[in-house]
Amino acid sequence: MLVEVGELKLKRGNRLEFDRQETWPQLDAGAERIPLTEPVRVTGDITNTGKFLHLRGKAYTTARLRCCRCLEPYTVSLEVSVEEQYCTQGVFASLAEDDEARDEVRVYEGDSIDVAPAVREAFILALPMKWLCREECQGLCPVCGQNLNEGDCHCRGEEVDPRMAVLGELLSWVRREG
Ligand SMILES: [Zn+2]
Ligand SMILES: [Zn+2]
Repeated sequence: MLVEVGELKLKRGNRLEFDRQETWPQLDAGAERIPLTEPVRVTGDITNTGKFLHLRGKAYTTARLRCCRCLEPYTVSLEVSVEEQYCTQGVFASLAEDDEARDEVRVYEGDSIDVAPAVREAFILALPMKWLCREECQGLCPVCGQNLNEGDCHCRGEEVDPRMAVLGELLSWVRREG
């Protein structure tokens, strides 16, 4: 997802507005591959502040997550703020060892900036800690694997042997995966 900065980088004070859209089939978050069901859109502006190109923008997409209780997929809209500083390799090399900017700035080459890595990180930070299709999700019956959001099963209310509960969970998992 490239933004041309050939013109922008020439003079301090230059400012550029941009609006990009791109289809990403998935968001790689560590070992997790999260399908995206809508294109990624990024809008914002970049200002030449002298040493740096300062990007401020918003990014949008829709992700498909799997509920940790009932295992059903559900979608969430992601809308995140993106703020980044970019500089050339030359400027980066000129920064003092103890300059805090070293840890935050991203290096770009040539006449364009790839905003995708910053957007990807912002999306990952915005993902919920716990993936729940809804706050009151009832999950699966630990005995028979019935999705309790869709109705009660006959096991409800019975005393559940914890060893059976583990087996029940396993069975429901196998049934779903198969
Ligand atoms: Zn659920
Ligand atoms: Zn049951």
